[in-house]
Amino acid sequence: MSTVSLLFRISGAALALHLGSQAAAGQTPRYSLLIKGGHVLDARNGVDAVRDVAIADGKIAAVAPDIPAADAAVVVDARGLFVTPGLIDIHAHLFYGTEAHTDYSNGPRAVPPDSHSFRSGQTTMVDAGGAGWRNFLQFKEQTIDRSRTRVLAYLHIVGHGMKGGPVEQDLGDMDAKLTAQRATQFRDHIVGIKVAHYNGPEWDPVTRAVEAGTKANVPVMIDFGGNEPPQSLDALLNTHLRPGDIFTHMCAHVRGRTPIVNAQGQVEPFVLAARKRGVIFDVGHGGGSFLFRQAIPAAKQGFLPDVISTDLHGGSMNGGMKDILNVMSKFLHLGMSVQDVVKANTSRAAEVIKRPELGHLGVGAEADVAVLGLRKGEFGFLDSSGWRMPGTQKLECELTVKAGQVVWDLNGRSRPLWSEDKNR
Ligand SMILES: [Zn+2]
Repeated sequence: MSTVSLLFRISGAALALHLGSQAAAGQTPRYSLLIKGGHVLDARNGVDAVRDVAIADGKIAAVAPDIPAADAAVVVDARGLFVTPGLIDIHAHLFYGTEAHTDYSNGPRAVPPDSHSFRSGQTTMVDAGGAGWRNFLQFKEQTIDRSRTRVLAYLHIVGHGMKGGPVEQDLGDMDAKLTAQRATQFRDHIVGIKVAHYNGPEWDPVTRAVEAGTKANVPVMIDFGGNEPPQSLDALLNTHLRPGDIFTHMCAHVRGRTPIVNAQGQVEPFVLAARKRGVIFDVGHGGGSFLFRQAIPAAKQGFLPDVISTDLHGGSMNGGMKDILNVMSKFLHLGMSVQDVVKANTSRAAEVIKRPELGHLGVGAEADVAVLGLRKGEFGFLDSSGWRMPGTQKLECELTVKAGQVVWDLNGRSRPLWSEDKNR
C-alpha cells in the first residue's frame, strides 16, 4: 500500500467517524456510500473512465469525476481498481438440498448462492434448470426467498427439474403449456426455459422448450447433445432456436455433441450464421465444458462469447472453473479486454436475460456494484481436460455492494481503521 493510499484511508475513516457525530446532531450525510477514484466500467451508459460513484437509499445517486468525500457517511478508496456493475452469472446451479439422488434439483450437487456470489463480485445469479414447473415453488421458498443474492431461474422443461438419470429423459414430463404457465406466474423470478441432458434422438425437448418460451415470452437456454450419432447442431442453431435463445457450453467437446470448432480448426460456418441471426453463445464453463482446443481457435478467429457464465456447482468450483472471475480472467488471456469481459457479465448478460434494469450504474439503478482488482503475477488456468495455461493477470473482488449494502469487503476498505482509543 502506498503512503498516499494509507493517508487517504485514515482520512476516510476519520471522516466517517466525524460525519457519524454530525448525523447524531441531525445532519445526515447526503450519500450512504461513496466509492472514490476507481476506473468505472459501465458499458450500458458509455462510461470507461475514473469516476466517483455515490450511493443513497440503496440506489446509484451520482457518477461524476469528483464527488466531495464530505458528502458521504462512508468513503471507499477505489484508486487503482475497477468499479463495475454487480456481475451477473447466467448459468449456475443453486437449488441445493439434501434429497438423495436428485443432482441439481434440491440435491447436494447444487450450491447456496450467497456462499459464492458476493466474494466474486456477483449480485445476480441465474439457476439453470434446477427446478421445473412442479417444484419451482419449493426452490423459491427454500433458496430464492432466503438469499441476499438476486436469484433468478430458468425453468427446466422437465416438470421435476434437473434430477438426473431417467427423470430427465421422460418425454411425458415435458409439458410446454404448464411450464409456460409457471414461468408467467413467476415472471419476477423466471427468465427462461432450460433444456439439458436429454440423450435421445428426438427433438421434442427442444421444440417443447421453445414452445414454452414463446408462450411465456422468455428465451430458452440449451445444454445440447448426448445422442449418438449427434443430432445436427446446424439444425438446432439455425432452425429450432430463435434469435435470443442461448447456446451454453459453447467451448465444450463432449460425446454426442458436435463442437463449434471443427477438425480443421475452423469455427463452423453454420455457427457464424447462427450468431448472425441472433443466437446467444454462452461459456457455461462447468466441470467438463471448457476446452482450450475449442476456445483458443474460436477466439483467434474472433468468435468470442456473448456471456461468460460459470455453470457453478459442487464439481466445477473445485475444478478448473473455480469462480466467475477466474473464468473471466481466462478470456483476458484469450485476447478480450477487461472492458469486454466485464461488459459480457453485466450489461450484455442483462440483455440476454431480458432484465435491462440490471447490469449498469445509471443514476436510479439499484446499487449493485463490484470493485475489482487486476492482480499481476504468475498464475495458472486450467481447462476441462486438465491442461494448464500460464497467465500474468487475474481479476479479484475487493468489494461488493448489493442494493447499497456492503456485502463483501476483502480488505476492509469500507471500515474505519482500528484504534487504541476506547472511546471510539
Ligand atoms: Zn449447468
